[in-house]
Amino acid sequence: MKKLRIPPTVKLGPHTYKIRRSSSMRADDELLGKAHYKRQTIDIDGTMPESELMVIFLHELIHVIARVYHAGDQYSEDTIDSMANGFATFLKDNLDITFDFRDIPNGD
Ligand SMILES: [Zn+2]
Repeated sequence: MKKLRIPPTVKLGPHTYKIRRSSSMRADDELLGKAHYKRQTIDIDGTMPESELMVIFLHELIHVIARVYHAGDQYSEDTIDSMANGFATFLKDNLDITFDFRDIPNGD
């Protein structure tokens, strides 16, 4: 199993997004991640297991990619979830890759 370390910042187009863990997001709110376009941050619920974090991070990353590369808002949350789960499954089951979030700071 290869673990790719997710860096605390990612570049997308002309933008640099900070990745942060949040412990204030609550699972019962069903808010497990949030992409802030204005602040250029991606917050992920740091209390979730790593396999969930991978999908949550990919979900928010796909939102940002769609925005930065002008795909617009035509993707529903279900479509974004489907793509995030598809990418996570592809990486894990075919390339033996999971993500390592140890370098992601707490944002709370
Ligand atoms: Zn979403």
